[in-house]
Amino acid sequence: MTETLSRIDFRRNTQNVPPPIRAATIKNTRTAVLKRAEAVQHLGVEYWERLRQAGHEIRLHALTHLDQYLPMLESKVIAAGGNVHWANDAADARRIVLEIAQRHRAQRIVKVKSMLSEEIELNDALRDAGLTALETDLGEYIVQLDGSRPSHPTNPSLHYTKEYIADLFQRKLGVDAPPDPAALTEIARVKLREEFLRADMGISGGNFLIAETGTLVLVTNEGNGRMCTTLPPVHVAVVGIEKVIPDWNSLTVLLQLLARSTTGQQMSSYTTFITGTRDRGPREFHLVLLDNGRTRILQDARARETLLCIRCGACANICPVFQQVGGHAYGAVYSGPIGAILSAQLLGVQTAGDLAFASSLCGACVETCPVQVPFTELLLHLRHRAVEGDRFEPPVAPAVVRAGARAGTIAFAWSWLYEFGTQILRFAQAPLKRGEWLPSLPPPANRWTLARQFPKFGAEFRAWWRKRGARGEKRDA
Ligand code: SF4
Repeated sequence: MTETLSRIDFRRNTQNVPPPIRAATIKNTRTAVLKRAEAVQHLGVEYWERLRQAGHEIRLHALTHLDQYLPMLESKVIAAGGNVHWANDAADARRIVLEIAQRHRAQRIVKVKSMLSEEIELNDALRDAGLTALETDLGEYIVQLDGSRPSHPTNPSLHYTKEYIADLFQRKLGVDAPPDPAALTEIARVKLREEFLRADMGISGGNFLIAETGTLVLVTNEGNGRMCTTLPPVHVAVVGIEKVIPDWNSLTVLLQLLARSTTGQQMSSYTTFITGTRDRGPREFHLVLLDNGRTRILQDARARETLLCIRCGACANICPVFQQVGGHAYGAVYSGPIGAILSAQLLGVQTAGDLAFASSLCGACVETCPVQVPFTELLLHLRHRAVEGDRFEPPVAPAVVRAGARAGTIAFAWSWLYEFGTQILRFAQAPLKRGEWLPSLPPPANRWTLARQFPKFGAEFRAWWRKRGARGEKRDA
């Protein structure tokens, strides 16, 4: 049975001194966008577009033939000495991982960065069972140390500045930490190396699963993936069923797309292939294949292309909404454009359908996505499901959404009413206004201000528009 799903409450983040999230997010996403653009130019735009088309076709073929490739994958993993477990939902996956840990009396666990592990809240389950689970990707390590959550699919600590990280290391690790990336990395490296050597079990996700040989593919830039999956005696990989691809030829296409889209590299620093158990390496390899709502997504022919995603993070980097609000604003594990469509479906449109509205429909993500996820069509489709009712959920959009939509329709239909409303808001906001911002709004708008400030209501746009008309600039519109 599927467990009750809910949004994530990020209020606990505000217990810490929040870093300048917006500035860091804008700076880091823009850097990533530039690097990706350079990598695509270097390869040649025409070749890149052919690769994208090939990537799309490979992923779509795999998704529509899961019945063929998943059993093939299972038999190959078992033939190579591994174990395969099927998890229907998050609770199933957590139970399987805990049972493996308990069977091996594992106390110390090292982990490779995995969004799916966040999706199933694995760290919380391990902690509640008295086990120590340490994230070893530098970004995840920082986020875990801060008691927070990743804000980006591939760059979990994207919203931090080096000054904040230095302060965090001083507070939590008790070391002298200068705000210098190389020095901070060295501090983390020394701490983590001890943990790799002491760990009883390693846990990873997986970027791809190759059906023809039963191979798990891990793509990292820090080498921590190899440490986690080779040093401890047991390795458990928890991977979504949609990650399966037919063969190694498919992988060569997808790896070219992934590295360039994620970091602008031609190839990631470490690409690790794990096929069952090895002579030198973990004695046991367990692959947990997780559904957790994915087959439900596949049932909707208009939404299934959501699962084409190879989690490169490029759509978040290019997204003007993500750049302004950061990943935590989505209130879900998956953020950015892919989060808007994936979370709305994994959690159900009743719980997270509002995410489908968190887009200007500018289409930048459509042009950027290496596997051509058709975001605009999917967002419109999910908006329709959110408002008109979801055939997989009870057909009721939240009352506040319906009331807001109705009020907006009326206001936009009558310009005098819209203008009147903005004048009222300008006066009504006075007790809440602090400079240019509204730091705290009453319910239900407080869901926004719990995590960030809201800009004050103003009439600048209409004044500008009138002046522009008076200057006769209308024809440039
Ligand atoms: S949807 Fe496309 S751009 Fe976004 S993370 Fe997935 S593969 Fe990357």
